[in-house]
Amino acid sequence: MAVLDVVKYPDPRLREPTFEVETIDEGIAELVRDMTDTMYALNGAGIAAIQVGRLERIFLIDGRVAGGDDDSPPVVCINPKVAETGKGLTIAEEGCLSFPNVFVDVKRPRWAKIEATNLEGETFTIEGEGLLGRALQHEFDHLTGQLLIDMVGMVKKEMIKRKMKRYHATEASP
Ligand SMILES: [Zn+2]
Repeated sequence: MAVLDVVKYPDPRLREPTFEVETIDEGIAELVRDMTDTMYALNGAGIAAIQVGRLERIFLIDGRVAGGDDDSPPVVCINPKVAETGKGLTIAEEGCLSFPNVFVDVKRPRWAKIEATNLEGETFTIEGEGLLGRALQHEFDHLTGQLLIDMVGMVKKEMIKRKMKRYHATEASP
């Protein structure tokens, strides 16, 4: 088990371009295992590889968020593509492992469908509304360098920047 360090805003690595996974090998399987451990350790609904400093286009969604139970493994989305979003817009509170203790209202399409490849190399689609629809869009955004702070107005942007400054100041002190 390896819980990895999560890259936190405003670390510029969160804005790096990501690349497609060409071969799903043992290295990718290990990265997915470590991302799973990290997501569970930090109670995330999802996690993207870029949040642990890797640039492969991979994210995970917690199995419970994806409609399973406590024993469901995370849904592994490799090289995901947003197939469709719709059913109107909805506002709900969102958090992110790269923004500890920050929760802000974000407006997004209610429903999303994503096409991706799993660890076995098979193509699948996952779709949903509510938390799942939101998590799919949030994690996909990470692969394009889009972050929670880009989704809110000026006042909230400043609030998030202040909170993250305080967070890093506290983390740095002994
Ligand atoms: Zn996030």
